[in-house]
Amino acid sequence: MRMTKVLYHYINGQRVEGNSRRYGDVFNPANGEISARVPLASADETANAVEAAAAAFPAWRDTPALRRSRILFRFKELLDQHLDELAELVSAEHGKVLSDARGSVIRGLEVVEFACGAPHLLKGEFSENVGRDVDSHSVRQALGVCAGITPFNFPAMVPMWMFPLAIVCGNTFILKVSEKVPSTSLRLAELLTEAGLPDGVMNVVNGGKHAVDALLTHPNVAAVSFVGSTPVAQYIHRTASEHGKRVQALGGAKNHMVVMPDADLEQAVDALMGAAYGSAGERCMAISVAVVVGDEVADALIARLAPRVASLKVGPASQPDAEMGPLITDAHRQKVKAYVDQGVQEGADLVVDGRDLKVGGHEQGFFLGGCLFDQVTTEMRIYQEEIFGPVLCVLRAADFETALEMVNTHEYGNGTAIFTRDGDTARSFASRVQVGMVGINIPIPVPMAFHSFGGWKHSLFGDMHVHGMEGIRFYSKLKTITSRWPTGIRAGADFHMPTMK
Ligand code: NAD
Repeated sequence: MRMTKVLYHYINGQRVEGNSRRYGDVFNPANGEISARVPLASADETANAVEAAAAAFPAWRDTPALRRSRILFRFKELLDQHLDELAELVSAEHGKVLSDARGSVIRGLEVVEFACGAPHLLKGEFSENVGRDVDSHSVRQALGVCAGITPFNFPAMVPMWMFPLAIVCGNTFILKVSEKVPSTSLRLAELLTEAGLPDGVMNVVNGGKHAVDALLTHPNVAAVSFVGSTPVAQYIHRTASEHGKRVQALGGAKNHMVVMPDADLEQAVDALMGAAYGSAGERCMAISVAVVVGDEVADALIARLAPRVASLKVGPASQPDAEMGPLITDAHRQKVKAYVDQGVQEGADLVVDGRDLKVGGHEQGFFLGGCLFDQVTTEMRIYQEEIFGPVLCVLRAADFETALEMVNTHEYGNGTAIFTRDGDTARSFASRVQVGMVGINIPIPVPMAFHSFGGWKHSLFGDMHVHGMEGIRFYSKLKTITSRWPTGIRAGADFHMPTMK
């Protein structure tokens, strides 16, 4: 009988066995088998990790920023060396094809590269002589123990949106990674130790709600970063705020791509294929809605899209020419299928139906073929709700203003794109659209590491986006120091508000 691998937590630089006696199953989505069991931490086990992180904080905070960033430089080199191994770990538990997994690790690595600039990024400001013989300067200081809670769809990239910046700013960190994809983060934490990070600075706790609640309410946790679905993001934002923590909570999405009549249609079709079906639609920046302006354009678009969707190469990550892998779990596949059923019932036109797809040799895998709906309307649930699968809804709009209105009145505001050759239209869209990240002839406008990532409306709760300068600000707090040195001149006691008059 084959023994199932049992995973662990990573606390204080050590692998720690779980003692809650509660475990979650980790699947290989390509064949439906359980590949590992992951311990689900109790509140006490999570508190142990917070204690380890709190104990490591004073020495780490006082380590010069240049030394902290040198450790991240070494970590970046290790990431380069272990890129293939990390991509394989991502694919094994998430299911996305290897080239996509590799790209996601690289996007995380780029945040590490940005974090290496911390000595410069954390530089404060200085003003001489703000009053007579008085100088003023500001510094950014670490917060303390920070926590990150991450979703299943980016096992390497989303944790790396958080911990490299948190750590380089002088904080210690606890990552509560998705219980569906724990192995990549455990490996990242070990590589940090190998890079020379002191024990306790980075900790990984596996678990579900018990572990999350313990972090949200623990008095020693100063800040919480969350990425996941909107209902949980709202809960995290509310609960952590009530407990006095700084919070950024990124939620779900329904990203629209507007196709104008003057767009390059071939370019728009290529863009939609990758953006709607890449990673099986399990991306928060996936395009799940195409709003096509004009019926003629919509007909032409559907005519080009349908054969491409029907012939998508769906297979396991190990299949070199696979374009799309399985979904994360069977339960999620059933949920996505139910949305497709719902769309049919609601009266949308299911142009390509991938519900019955079987992948030879992988019949137990959680595969679903690409689905394409035409004639979707704004009242339908398949339009209003996030499906998070390989399902693209096409809506038709009479003109630009109607299309813009659709994007702006939708509950979510993560990403959006417009395809047009007209500068005026593109500029008007970028300026007026109520969405956090906008692409012009770019379907998935994910900002680079040195810019910041975040949506609007129900796609983000809190004020600050992740990585880039917003990330540095989130993981540090500002202190302003005003100083005067004794000069022998005594002005006497002053009972008025000091001014320059
Ligand atoms: P999820 O909300 O189910 O889980 C995210 C994390 O929260 C996990 O670590 C999970 O263990 C924890 N969690 C789940 N339920 C909880 C509860 N009731 N109380 C406390 N913690 C809980 O999300 P998911 O299914 O892992 O990921 C998919 C979702 O993430 C999608 O909605 C997607 O749009 C979103 N997402 C958003 C972004 C973004 O940048 N806005 C990026 C990636 C994913």
